[in-house]
Amino acid sequence: MFDYRIATLGSHTALQILKGARDEGFQNICVCRKDRVKPYKNFGVADEIITIDSYKDFPKVENELIKKKAIIIPHASFIEYVGIKYIEKLKVGYFGNKEILKWESDRRMEERWLRNSNLRTPLIFKDPAEIDRPCIIKFYGAKGGKGYFIANSELDFRSKMAVHPVDKYVIQEYIVGVPMYIHYFYSSLTGELEIMSFDKRYESNVDSIGRISARDQSSFTNVDPSYVVVGNVPLVLRESLLTEVIEMGERVVRESKKITKSSLFGPFCLETVLTPDQEFYVFEISARIVAGTNPFINGSPYTHLKYNKPMSTGRRIALEIRRAIEQKRLNEVLG
Ligand code: AMP
Repeated sequence: MFDYRIATLGSHTALQILKGARDEGFQNICVCRKDRVKPYKNFGVADEIITIDSYKDFPKVENELIKKKAIIIPHASFIEYVGIKYIEKLKVGYFGNKEILKWESDRRMEERWLRNSNLRTPLIFKDPAEIDRPCIIKFYGAKGGKGYFIANSELDFRSKMAVHPVDKYVIQEYIVGVPMYIHYFYSSLTGELEIMSFDKRYESNVDSIGRISARDQSSFTNVDPSYVVVGNVPLVLRESLLTEVIEMGERVVRESKKITKSSLFGPFCLETVLTPDQEFYVFEISARIVAGTNPFINGSPYTHLKYNKPMSTGRRIALEIRRAIEQKRLNEVLG
């Protein structure tokens, strides 16, 4: 139907991106590591699979993608494996605002963006000597929360840090509440912000430690909590909180218009902890599709209200590209 093809890296959220592209009338391409092809073949979602030996080889297929008029849909694995420096120079079509990448990947810039969007964020302690409450210590570039630890004093911090030879970390106040990941989509074509869905992550081993009593926990003296994501659980939010959620997303988009030439557009996610006082603390933003949208390949309760047909975040991206092509505004959605 269109000469453009939608392409992504075979990982993370590729199943819904490929299926969504087809549902909106696009041919799709899955660039995939040789040993990761099976899901994309087995589920029958890919029109074409281009294999590479390692993610580092992505640049080798860029020219082929350009010839095929591919538009790349970035996701966390694409950003991590291909790398921001290379992405900034990509010549193949890319859905999204590349300028925003540095804002979400640098913890300090991200923090500034969130604060200037008037969002409640956990306190950050610049110096370990300032630690006066339970804090979570996060490493830069940590893969899925591995190695994070909790410290409640400088002494505790120093003894736990001794086994973590890293120099870039952030000390963030630990917020007691439930994790809530809010998935949005902002259309720069219409100026409309949509709530796509919510999830919580299933993290190992913190989600396992909480299943035993404190008495038994103390017998696991050598088990450190770890926040490695292994899956996502769909959630529906208390309806009275939706107004605030919409306004939070609107403020983030408004601020993005100040920090970049255009704005954040397409899918994004606010990663929050919701306290018993119903206060959202935003500890991170992902300015792209997140894996928490994967439970909603067939749509979420919220997309059902709006679209009345299965609308995954992957499909919503394809719909945006389709509308942009139809309105001759494709350049507005390519970074
Ligand atoms: P992150 O790598 O920042 O996404 O954090 C990994 C996990 O740590 C999250 O999914 C939460 O379960 C938890 N977490 C992160 N920051 C905080 C915080 N400030 N307070 C409480 N839990 C947090």
